[in-house]
Amino acid sequence: MASLDMKGPYPYNKSTIEKEVYPNRIGNYALGYIDSGNIFRVQYVGRSIDMGVRERLLSHIESGDNEYESFKYSYAKSEKEAFEKECKNYHDFGENKKLKNDIHPSRINNYRCPICDN
Ligand SMILES: [Zn+2]
Repeated sequence: MASLDMKGPYPYNKSTIEKEVYPNRIGNYALGYIDSGNIFRVQYVGRSIDMGVRERLLSHIESGDNEYESFKYSYAKSEKEAFEKECKNYHDFGENKKLKNDIHPSRINNYRCPICDN
């Protein structure tokens, strides 16, 4: 079964993000909810490389994006690692429009998606 390979889930709110996620670390995140069987259901996957994953999650909250209940996250050692993980998450969870991600993750630095070569 596909795995996000991230820590969590945690409640998606400012104080939890500030408590759980270190500042200024690039990485990946997933937003979603916990279903009645106590399973995290992913609704959106993202990467954050232009700012830390903590700062990205907080900026989502501060911009009023609070439709999600829970989040998971992971740190990445490099932009390439974050990009490839986002691609993998997108293909594992986003086929058939199951995610709110409308499009394939955008390419950076000529890195290619390891799944579809996009
Ligand atoms: Zn792809």
